[in-house]
Parts: sequence; C-alpha cells; structure tokens
Amino acid sequence: MVLESGFVAGLAGLLGLLIGSFLNVAIYRIPKMMEHQWAAECAELSGKPTEPKEEFNLLTPRSRCSHCGHLIRWYENIPVLSYVFLKGKCAVCKVPYGFRYPLIEAATGGLFFFCAWRWGWTWTTLVWCGFSAALLVLAVIDWDTTLLPDDLTLPLLWAGLLVAALHWNPSVDLATALWGAVAGYLSLWGVYWAFKLATGKEGMGYGDFKLFAALGAWFGWPALIPMILMASVIGAIIGIAMKFSSGLREGGYVPFGPFLAGAGFTAMIFGPQSILQFVGL
Ligand SMILES: [Zn+2]
Repeated sequence: MVLESGFVAGLAGLLGLLIGSFLNVAIYRIPKMMEHQWAAECAELSGKPTEPKEEFNLLTPRSRCSHCGHLIRWYENIPVLSYVFLKGKCAVCKVPYGFRYPLIEAATGGLFFFCAWRWGWTWTTLVWCGFSAALLVLAVIDWDTTLLPDDLTLPLLWAGLLVAALHWNPSVDLATALWGAVAGYLSLWGVYWAFKLATGKEGMGYGDFKLFAALGAWFGWPALIPMILMASVIGAIIGIAMKFSSGLREGGYVPFGPFLAGAGFTAMIFGPQSILQFVGL
C-alpha cells in the first residue's frame, strides 16, 4: 500500500515537473497575450486598421532565449536538470536565466507529489493538482504584473463549485462551496469600498475578490476567515519589510494575490483550521 501510493505520488511528481515547465511559459506569456488583446481592442475601437500579428499563444511560437533568440532545444528544456547542466545559462549566449524557472518546476512537482500522496489514484488528486497549478500561475503573474487574469480566476471559481457538486472534494459540499464563493467575493468587495471611501485609495483590485471567491469555492465558507487572516498578516509583514529595504516598486503597491495564494496552499496542505493554530487562535 505504501509502495503503491509512493509510486503514484512519484509519477505525479514527475508529471508536475513537466507541467511546471509549461507553467513557466504561461506565467511569461499570459500577461503578454492580455496586452496584445488590449492593443487589438483599442485599435478596433479607434477604427484603425489592424495589421495581422504573428501568432502568439501558450503553444506558439516555440520558446527562445529572450536575449539572443536561440531556439530552446528539447534537451535544454528538461525540468530542473537542464538548468543544473547548463548552470542556469543560455547554451549559446550564456546570459543567466533566473533561478525562478527551476523553482517553479520543482514547486509544481512537489505540489503534485503531495496531492497524489494524500489522495491517491482518485479524481480528488487530479482536481487538486489543477488547483495547485492555477494558483501558482496566478500568484506569480500577480507578483510580476499586479494582475490576476479573469481567464484564470473565473475558471478556478467555477471549477471549485463543479468539484464540490461532483463530490470530488471530500471536505466541502456544494452549499458550503457556493456560500464560500459568495462570501469570499462580497467580503473583499466590502473592504475595498470601505477603504476607498475612507482614504480615496484603492487597496486592492477586483481580481483579488475573484481569487478569494475561488478559494471560498474550493475550501468552503468556514475557511475564509483563517485564510484572510493569514494573507493579511503575512502580506503586511512582507509589505513593511519591503518598504524598509526599499524593495517596493513604483507606487508602493504590494500585490495581495500572492498572499491569498499562500493561504490557499497552506489550507490545502495543512487544512484551513490549522492556520488558526499557527497564528495562535
Ligand atoms: Zn541566449
């Protein structure tokens, strides 16, 4: 039994490494795809003729070195291993690649391993792997661009409800998931407007409401308070630390999505109620 679940978890971990390699592409390309789309919509509204653009999506064109344009060969694209063999550099121009690529591959592998170890050969494993992949991409894109794309948050929300309806998520029934989504959205929406009316500033974006609604759908409404507590406390600590180390970007804006995602991963791995124990409640 242990051997069998170890084998399934190992396979899932390897698959996670490969998916992680694809998530790196998604993290890099989704914001660019959104920019292309906005530019095309603006051009259309202003009545200017749009010149046909080269195809750009998650699958085409193939990955190139962003510095020298060298086409990445398959053996330079093996998760984690290629990074180690190439010492984190482009094989041709030797420009260093960020440490983030292997880190995201390893994180995806680890998360998939965990899900398969915990839930075995089941639909539950499959859906939590999907949840992990989407949440990881959202967290990093938000960190990079302060955007949480609707194309990711909304499917994640619907998927959470669907998974609850299908009983693939053993800890949450449909009503708990539905009220989780509703309360998740409305609570941050309320905070946003209270903050905006009081200070005239925007403390977060609509993407944060949708992401929190999605977390409500996946974990149910009782998990919302632990998750928002954890995200706020850690977000505040990191925000203050960045302020003192002058690591804040222009506008002094710290995206909230990565901290919501962090709370989501903690809830998935340790259970939502464990968060309250961490913070001593
Ligand atoms: Zn290069």
